[in-house]
Amino acid sequence: MARKIGSRYTANQILGRGSAGTVWLGEGPEGPVAVKLLREDLASDEELVGRFVQERTALLKLDHPNVVSVRDLVVDGNDLALVMDLVRGTDLRTRLDRERRLAPEAAVAIAADVADALAAAHATGVVHRDVKPENVLLDMEGPLGPGGAHPALLTDFGVAKLIDTPRRTRATKIIGTPDYLAPEIVEGLPPTAAVDIYALATMLYELLAGFTPFGGGHPGAVLRRHVTETVVPLPGIPEELWQLLVQCLAKAPASRLRASELGARLREQLPSLAGLPPLDVDEPDAEQHEAQEEPTAAPAPRERVRRGAVPLVPGAKPDSNRDTHTSMRVPAPDELAGGARGTARVPRTAGAPRPGSARNRSSARRRRITLGAAAVVLVAAAGVGTWVAGTGDDPAGTPKDGTQNSAPDTP
Ligand code: ADP
Ligand code: MG
Repeated sequence: MARKIGSRYTANQILGRGSAGTVWLGEGPEGPVAVKLLREDLASDEELVGRFVQERTALLKLDHPNVVSVRDLVVDGNDLALVMDLVRGTDLRTRLDRERRLAPEAAVAIAADVADALAAAHATGVVHRDVKPENVLLDMEGPLGPGGAHPALLTDFGVAKLIDTPRRTRATKIIGTPDYLAPEIVEGLPPTAAVDIYALATMLYELLAGFTPFGGGHPGAVLRRHVTETVVPLPGIPEELWQLLVQCLAKAPASRLRASELGARLREQLPSLAGLPPLDVDEPDAEQHEAQEEPTAAPAPRERVRRGAVPLVPGAKPDSNRDTHTSMRVPAPDELAGGARGTARVPRTAGAPRPGSARNRSSARRRRITLGAAAVVLVAAAGVGTWVAGTGDDPAGTPKDGTQNSAPDTP
């Protein structure tokens, strides 16, 4: 089922599906390529196509061994395609699903590669805005590096920005993946290079721990944690590495390291991490978090409950929050603080795994969340913050991307 893309490329076989479109194994004048065909609703948006062409120069100029290069942008009839270098391997999410946690040396080697990719992008004024394991490809044909890690390449540059058109996302909308979103974005500030550092530090934490520092449960609860919670230390993590993580997860963007420095500092630590086994980390359970979030509360019943995957609307199913283009209202700072008591507690479900947990991840990836701007209402009363999601009409006219896009990220 080969199809022609412009005059120079053919798309031969589907490699994977993502939130923005389908990625094909293709053939061009210079050999095999990967072709990302954008979703029809994106490709038929004239304004977006205009921006796509405008962005061409910035995307094409990014040339770095740890960046999946965009070779060409093709606008052909109804098709809108990004022609990229073909990476033979797998994405980091797939590896993490398989191994649950990586040994510190391999995790740090991968994060250092991504930091180098970001340094090159930031130097040309490009902010990625969607750094996460799904957007890191591991080149299995490349040389093995420290900890047996294959070279890591960052992909999807510019895609978040393209989709973030004024019409699609008003000032009150957020583009990104909740688990990896920097607190300043939650508070409505424009994204700078520092948001990529925060996302990368979140990803490194996840590679080491098996879960993200602030993920789990409703996207609203995740966003609140980014702003109000401090990161829980990982048992057994080498002190220097922990200090780097803490610095790059700082709430204040200016306190985070720059990408080039982060890459260098990570590489410096590699020799001392050689041979360390993956950290022995338990997933956080609810009692621990209850204690943290509301120290004055009566002790929770001794049941094994997890913080993640809580339904916030009575009768609603727990859902994933790993999608990129979650669209939601930015809560006001006082709402984020959860009202007078300073913390918000989320209703919980016994025995439900966190969406980011190994147990839940495959199903979590398949599910989509849809939130309209007016459909997310934060109720903060008597110390109980409850996110209520509905599916009513969106006065901002924002497309509810998730509904049109229920394909899994990988076949
Ligand atoms: P989206 O960002 O739209 O969600 P992705 O870029 O993550 O989509 O692509 C989906 C899948 O396609 C990836 O998980 C990966 O398996 C495959 N893929 C993407 N880009 C490439 C590439 N350059 N080379 C090889 N496979 C790719
Ligand atoms: Mg992607």
